[in-house]
Amino acid sequence: MKAMKVTVLGSATSTGVPVVGCECNVCRSQDRRNKRTRTSALVSVAGKNILIDTPPDLHQQALENRITRIDAVLYTHDHADHVFGLDELRIFNFLQEGVIPIYGNKKTIGRIKKIFDYIWDPAAPVGGGKPMLEAHVLKGGFKLSGIKVLPIEIFHGKQSIYGYRLGDFAYLTDCSAIPDASREALRGLKLLILGALRFRPHPTHFSFSQALEEIQRLKPERALLTHLSHCFDPEETDFFVSHQVELAYDGMVIEL
Ligand SMILES: [Zn+2]
Ligand SMILES: [Zn+2]
Ligand SMILES: [Zn+2]
Repeated sequence: MKAMKVTVLGSATSTGVPVVGCECNVCRSQDRRNKRTRTSALVSVAGKNILIDTPPDLHQQALENRITRIDAVLYTHDHADHVFGLDELRIFNFLQEGVIPIYGNKKTIGRIKKIFDYIWDPAAPVGGGKPMLEAHVLKGGFKLSGIKVLPIEIFHGKQSIYGYRLGDFAYLTDCSAIPDASREALRGLKLLILGALRFRPHPTHFSFSQALEEIQRLKPERALLTHLSHCFDPEETDFFVSHQVELAYDGMVIEL
């Protein structure tokens, strides 16, 4: 398999951490692992960068991680914390002098075209520039930068959304259930990044214990938890998370 680098760009739930107006220990913590921007990741393979989601913090994430090109974007779903940074892709059009392909399921691509209608409206004035994107509705696996990209159907409450498998890495955020057919497609992973919102159950996200159960079932070599709320403090959580399961933090890099 081609060498792959995965960078956790953001590891927070939709509010970000610190949470505005919150005075809890995690939100007041100086530990950099408790400064979480909204969830996304960058996969670097064969000199190309594949971005998963465009959260509202993409500008800051691109600066902090010195991202200088984006060759494709894979969207998990259409929620604001995963798409609202889409206009930040504009700068990469300038840097690369090219169109960027974006991928997602039918609902996600449809919603993106509605929210960011000016991008696809030929009559909308370009003004300061608008992103140049090529939108693709994904139904099955395809190749990007010589690597197989497989959309994996998962459930976010009642909503069917996508996780992705790229080689031996899989990324499943905002997940509350994994269908059996999708579990089959997640065998033999070296790295799994899985969403876990908080300790208490939630209708549309795995709790901490549900995520651990799923990891035990899927048996990846290494697992990271993401989309974390302010209830997770790595100082306090470390002792009951094993070395195979860790809390992701912003800027974390994993080489595969
Ligand atoms: Zn989310
Ligand atoms: Zn807090
Ligand atoms: Zn969501």
